[in-house]
Amino acid sequence: MSERIAVKHTMDLAWRYASGEAMERFCADLSDRRIEALRCGGCGRRYLPPRPFCGNCRLRMTERVPVRDVGTLVAWTVVHTPILDGRTGEPRPAPYGMGLIRLDGADTTLNHYLAEADPARLRVGSRVRAVWRPALRGAMDDILHFEVLS
Ligand SMILES: [Zn+2]
Repeated sequence: MSERIAVKHTMDLAWRYASGEAMERFCADLSDRRIEALRCGGCGRRYLPPRPFCGNCRLRMTERVPVRDVGTLVAWTVVHTPILDGRTGEPRPAPYGMGLIRLDGADTTLNHYLAEADPARLRVGSRVRAVWRPALRGAMDDILHFEVLS
């Protein structure tokens, strides 16, 4: 029978993530509390998070349309495993809520944290609003999470 051992080691990895033109602009706009979707000139679908090409028409999209920071909760879950938060590098305390949110003015959903982690208070169709970081810096976590309005 083999014995298991654990070796605690922290790796120092320097890396940069290329988010692409559409997401780079999206994140930069967040520093002004501005959210814009990209609208397809073929089918009219408004993508948020923005992406350069329409998944339906395969057309390149360049038309920006404003999106509100309030929307509708389309799906949700409560996570009970304290995973490493990729945006902060720190473990995110569990439990926490995650949701797919269709912001007013968009046709697709944004995956984001929810302020609520009580399943009794979460339901599909709830209205939610972005809670912004006090000092914006042009990053995805300028929106800390979404709070449930109704
Ligand atoms: Zn399209």
